[in-house]
Amino acid sequence: MSTSIEELARANVRALTPYLSARRLGGNGDVWLNANEYPLAVPFELSQNTLNRYPECQPKQVIERYARYAGLATDQVLVCRGADEGIELVIRAFCEPGQDAVLFCPPTYGMYAVSAETIGVEVRTVEAREDWQLNLPAIAERLDGVKVVYVCSPNNPTGNLVNPDDLRQLLEMTRGKALVVADEAYIEFCPSASVAGWLKDYPHLVVLRTLSKAFALAGLRCGFTLANAEVITLLMKVIAPYPLSTPVADIAAQALSEQGVALMKQHVSDLVATRDELIDQLRRCDCVEAVFTSNTNYVLARFTATSQAFKTLWEQGIILRDQSRQPGLSGCLRITIGTREECNRVIAALRNLPGTAASREQA
Ligand SMILES: *Cc1c(COP(=O)(O)O)cnc(C)c1O
Repeated sequence: MSTSIEELARANVRALTPYLSARRLGGNGDVWLNANEYPLAVPFELSQNTLNRYPECQPKQVIERYARYAGLATDQVLVCRGADEGIELVIRAFCEPGQDAVLFCPPTYGMYAVSAETIGVEVRTVEAREDWQLNLPAIAERLDGVKVVYVCSPNNPTGNLVNPDDLRQLLEMTRGKALVVADEAYIEFCPSASVAGWLKDYPHLVVLRTLSKAFALAGLRCGFTLANAEVITLLMKVIAPYPLSTPVADIAAQALSEQGVALMKQHVSDLVATRDELIDQLRRCDCVEAVFTSNTNYVLARFTATSQAFKTLWEQGIILRDQSRQPGLSGCLRITIGTREECNRVIAALRNLPGTAASREQA
């Protein structure tokens, strides 16, 4: 008797819906505003040519430079293939499949669920309050068996920061029971909100960072997990032997040089200016009901005829991210801040949507 390949797979993998990354969603655009990437490529050169050798597991220069950038000790920094791998390493090191749970607060980033489900760890959710802050009493009630709580701040896709006092309360209620993972993928857009400085107070705090967003290196696949040495040592037990290829480490070290960091900061301030202009113009569009405050390189907005707006822009090659199926986000699209020209194209397309005042004047 033979078994189909499908049946050979683990039950949780058969049941799994893979993360629909912006790239997997497809589209035929020339204005890509759906993955929170930086709109322009940064220059780099390869200086390491010894590809006959295996790379260092934790390239020393990358670790030293990130530690300096983050204001931490080198034993508090782990580098891996993007923040996404950090999300998964924490589950692999701390959660017993079929027994432990992870908790997070939708609407939020999709990979917490995908990683937990892949590994066979229970996903428990406590919806954020209407203002997108943590519902602490509801979290407290649901912490039984939870080993990891993910808090995304600034949150993707809403763009808001989590109230620091709430985060401290969460850290108090989880002390000795669970890790709290603060996902700071967008922290370069609001650096003073980082909780990396709290590591000395909380042995169970983990902070995720990435070079994919403000550092303009999404294609590099390089991220960082910041935690106290005891946590890092455990994560190092489950990490792949060579998580970063030699060219990745080479480019990451350049991005984290003094020059690289200065360039990133310049990009951030330009992008923030473009963002605030876009927000201003969105607020003046008839088809836009609400534009939410953003501490990031994207803006969430609620539209009147959302699927029509999404589709019309898609057909014009402007690709946004539809968030309307997330809890509390009906009618919402997320727009990554592109170049000024790209943002202008978004506004022009929205003004011309059928049924809006501008299109009626033209008609
Ligand atoms: C983009 C993103 C990540 C993943 O970053 P990578 O380093 O590219 O894996 C993690 N968390 C959030 C909230 C993100 O938006």
